[in-house]
Amino acid sequence: MIPYGRQQVTQGDIDAVVAVLRSDFLTQGPAVPRFEQALAGRCGARHAVAANSATSALHLACLALGLGEGDVLWTVPNTFVASANCGRYCGADVDFVDIAPDTWNLDPKALRAKLLAARAAGRLPKIVVPVHFGGQPTDQEEIWELAQEFGFKVLEDASHSIGASRHGQRVGSCRWSDVTVFSFHPVKIITTGEGGMALTNDDEVAWRMTTLRSHGITRDPARMQRPPDGPWQYEQLELGHNYRITDLQAALGLSQLDRLDEFVEARNAISRRYDRLLSGLPVTAQTISPGNQSAFHLYVVRLRGDVVRRSQREIFERLRRHGVGVNLHYLPVHLQPYYRALGFAPGLCPEAERYAQEAMTLPLYPALTDAEQDVVVAALGDALG
Ligand SMILES: *Cc1c(COP(=O)(O)O)cnc(C)c1O
Repeated sequence: MIPYGRQQVTQGDIDAVVAVLRSDFLTQGPAVPRFEQALAGRCGARHAVAANSATSALHLACLALGLGEGDVLWTVPNTFVASANCGRYCGADVDFVDIAPDTWNLDPKALRAKLLAARAAGRLPKIVVPVHFGGQPTDQEEIWELAQEFGFKVLEDASHSIGASRHGQRVGSCRWSDVTVFSFHPVKIITTGEGGMALTNDDEVAWRMTTLRSHGITRDPARMQRPPDGPWQYEQLELGHNYRITDLQAALGLSQLDRLDEFVEARNAISRRYDRLLSGLPVTAQTISPGNQSAFHLYVVRLRGDVVRRSQREIFERLRRHGVGVNLHYLPVHLQPYYRALGFAPGLCPEAERYAQEAMTLPLYPALTDAEQDVVVAALGDALG
């Protein structure tokens, strides 16, 4: 089976991890701050806070931005469940904004319309979580302008888009957001096994995320409520978590980061080749907006309902039988049983719902060969036929 995504681990990566195993620190050692500084420097953000997953980083960001019971967080349905769940962990309500029919990212027009309605109803969101679907940055300037106008925080879920940029601004710079989160799960662009990172330019938000990552504890005398009576002193200021990443993982991440540009270039080249090879088939690829450089975490096509006669399910099954590991990103989050039980139903986000009935993720990872890609394209042609 040709999988839809796959990590690439070199001898250099392995050596970096083994070096940590032979060192004094398996966790809370020097590799974590080195990884954080390397990524903050690369993205042009003041702070980077590593966590043991992007899910944890999203939760930390929501807590640091002050999300709590009675508040509301909005995201899109066309994402992994974690983009919404982070709001629920904080006891907040979650709601969903529809996607645009071509970019498959949050639609700023739908956001504005929903904000106007929410203002009239006195129920504006505290945080909006745009998701860089497939590696393409969202329309951040527009979202940021709306954030100023309506007074919400912006948390970019950039789990798909490390290495991407928009109008020359690297994703992670937080030029148009409060916090940006990356994922290092093995299917993502660089990996630490499990891991994530939250970047911000806000000193206080960075400090809160760092503290909450480790039980809500500080060792900084300036932050303590009582003067320390010895060098052993630490204080737990609030209820935090253990969301720390290990040094083993950070060393792997640092080593992988060296090849980030290479990975993104390879993913773009494979995507361009798909564009060419698929041009005769009744499928539509994601529209990449001018000014966007996608990281191409995913290559997704939509089956053209006006031409394709077979069902999405039948085409999926045929491809899987041909050894092509196609996937669906994503079933709309608001239609998951957990969210349905909270009252969500079909019809809330018609674009995202239509999209999910036509979408198909094709294999894409740096080591995918031309020959494998040809197998995918031939199998797709067959399955559509
Ligand atoms: C992968 C992913 C996450 C969660 O990442 P983990 O590191 O596995 O917690 C969150 N949001 C999106 C959009 C993702 O693709």
